[in-house]
Amino acid sequence: MAGRERARKRFGQNFLVDETVIDRIAGRFNSDDEQSKQATIVEIGPGRGALTAALVTTGQPLIALEIDRDLIPLLQTRFSRYRNFELRQADALQFDFASLAPLAPLRLVGNLPYNIATPLIFRLLEVLDNVADMHFMLQWEVVARLAAGAGDPNYGQLSLVVQNLCRVNALFDVPAECFNPAPKVKSGFVHLQPREQPLVPGPLHSTFNKVVKTAFAQRRKTLRNNLKSLLTADQIASAGIDAGKRAEQIDMADFITLAELVHAIQPE
Ligand code: SAM
Repeated sequence: MAGRERARKRFGQNFLVDETVIDRIAGRFNSDDEQSKQATIVEIGPGRGALTAALVTTGQPLIALEIDRDLIPLLQTRFSRYRNFELRQADALQFDFASLAPLAPLRLVGNLPYNIATPLIFRLLEVLDNVADMHFMLQWEVVARLAAGAGDPNYGQLSLVVQNLCRVNALFDVPAECFNPAPKVKSGFVHLQPREQPLVPGPLHSTFNKVVKTAFAQRRKTLRNNLKSLLTADQIASAGIDAGKRAEQIDMADFITLAELVHAIQPE
């Protein structure tokens, strides 16, 4: 590929070329459900429009956010005839998603560039009020981390922080050959559905995040060691939790208990 045809590595451009995968993704948006019909689809990183073409025909308002200026004319030419289509040249990491509140509920979707996926998900967790759901293509390993439960080697801070706010459903794996250029690793498609209520009570949020981060600081170490600055081994044991366990063996409910303990000792 030459000139502007070339995929840009720095923008994580791996374009979807497999029609079966595109159809499976689009199938998540061809819903008869009234709430979905009233939603605005927000596509992050439309690229050359592989997914956009399938989404725009739902007739629902579709806002596409693309950072690469060189792709803007191509996308405009391809989709400007659709009255439900709106293109914004924008960096999704800087974009003010709260400004789309009047268009809520929002259904976010994207074959995300791998380098921005995790920071973007963390940012989106802050604006979930307007979000009906999110569907993302991610590096398979990130999908595994999002969906993991206690005891799984992929379980960690990302799993707990996201699962506190969203139900996570790993939908299907996508082999590298489905993209051009093919990425080095397999991908996965995941659905994140914001919960009506977070699992962690509001006043405990920041303590919970701190406890989780501290507990996983050194994965091989025990809770007793990692949480030393926050709780004694006796305090951990008083909640019925074995301080000799590692963080990856502790489930959401026990992390909430640990956060309650820390909060009771040192309220934020
Ligand atoms: N959706 C297209 C597809 O599936 O073929 C393209 C997917 S490609 C993996 C990622 C797209 O996100 C590229 O078009 C890239 O230019 C765009 N992108 C990269 N960083 C971005 C950012 N910070 N904000 C918005 N778009 C970005």
